[in-house]
Amino acid sequence: MAEKKKEEVVSAALKAEEKLKSQWYILDTEGELHKIDEFDFKGRDNLRKFAGYEVDKDRSVHQEPPHVTMMKALELVDYEPASDPGNMRYYPKGRMIKALLEEYVSSKVAAYGGMEVETPIMYNLEHPTLANYLNRFPARQYTIESDNDRYFLRFAACFGQFLMAHDATISYKNLPFKIYELTRYSFRREQKGELTGLRRLRSFTMPDVHAMCRDLEQAKEEFMVRFKMSADVLDGIGIHNSDYELGVRLTEEFWANNKDFVVNLVKTHGKPALVEMWRERIFYFILKWERNFVDNLDKASALSTDQIDVENGERYDIKFMDEDGVGKHPLILHCSPSGAIERDIYALLEKAAFDMKVGKRPTLPLWLQPTQVRVIPVSQDYLGAADKIAAEIEASKIRVDVDNRDESVGKKIRDSEKEWIHYTLVIGEKEAGKEKIPVRVRETGKLVEYSPAELAKEIKGIVGDKPWRPLPVPRYLQQRPKFSG
Ligand SMILES: [Zn+2]
Repeated sequence: MAEKKKEEVVSAALKAEEKLKSQWYILDTEGELHKIDEFDFKGRDNLRKFAGYEVDKDRSVHQEPPHVTMMKALELVDYEPASDPGNMRYYPKGRMIKALLEEYVSSKVAAYGGMEVETPIMYNLEHPTLANYLNRFPARQYTIESDNDRYFLRFAACFGQFLMAHDATISYKNLPFKIYELTRYSFRREQKGELTGLRRLRSFTMPDVHAMCRDLEQAKEEFMVRFKMSADVLDGIGIHNSDYELGVRLTEEFWANNKDFVVNLVKTHGKPALVEMWRERIFYFILKWERNFVDNLDKASALSTDQIDVENGERYDIKFMDEDGVGKHPLILHCSPSGAIERDIYALLEKAAFDMKVGKRPTLPLWLQPTQVRVIPVSQDYLGAADKIAAEIEASKIRVDVDNRDESVGKKIRDSEKEWIHYTLVIGEKEAGKEKIPVRVRETGKLVEYSPAELAKEIKGIVGDKPWRPLPVPRYLQQRPKFSG
């Protein structure tokens, strides 16, 4: 008995995007627009790759990017065959890295003034405002049935926050009204051929901070604040200006009326950007930017982003009381300062793969490294001395483990290298009880003498005020199960 397949929910915006005709340019820091085929990309390989990738709109992946092998070998993340593709499992070390990134981004948004909220992950497909909104968003949905109703899993944090803002009492004095949620998870039924590792997923963790603004002037001012905040957030994660390319998307009308503002964004970015221009407004925004990472397969992916939305204030009937006593709809900015957290991990691992290509040792930023210091006793006789040193360093909130396995010292050192551990100490007769101990420093490959207090101080100096979590696995290697790799 063949049951008729339910029709997939495909939004009007997604259909429109497929047919969309865009004009593509490179905007340089002097404010000049260049046609792509006339721009000199010399010394700008990544911008050329990003532009090529965007203009082609080919999202399919035929090769496995290097971060997939790394995420398994480091026991961070893996595919979950029992789920839908693009829904991953996180092992303890991967969970810790993801949690630290989540905490970090949320703390930066809190410092910016975003008020953190939590909203449901599923919504009624027949809700009149949502049905209308769904059609304006270019994404494919999961749908769920419960009793006689159909629901969709959220693809972003927008509607939960908008429904909340609709019911709030807002004065012009409260603007910009900044509201934030870190969605774990948002769901998008990306096409199967596009799914790969952590780059493109069907369920992902998305920090999303909206700002409701009084008018275009306030929106532009706030937009610039968030443009800088996003760069700062990525920088802290370990993804720097040289690692990404800026894409700016806008209508011809917005460009004509706000040229200086757009040029100023590109100037702040400090290098030329790709511009996609539309004759008329097809989406709910008039301006959008993203910072895009180009990986080892020359594929580009958006990290942080922001938009000026001119539709949803009205659609969701969000109102603020203006100075003149009249209720008005705000403009809404939609910003993810980091992009999906999973994608940040992807970018960090792909960066490590780039390092390997040029003969450098791959690493993760020290604050995210599951084990920051490994202590290796040469035999069981020195376990006590190793424990003592580990405890001294650990007291400064540093993740230290002890390799107490019955393996050769050579094997233990090689395993420490395989885990990308930044500092490795070998404790034998010469080292036990000594004030200063030779430490293998991964970055330089050199042996440097440190006392435990000096090493702790150095690590704290590098990590700074980033969030901290304890070791996510048992401290003794002997006691650890192996998850993958
Ligand atoms: Zn949004």
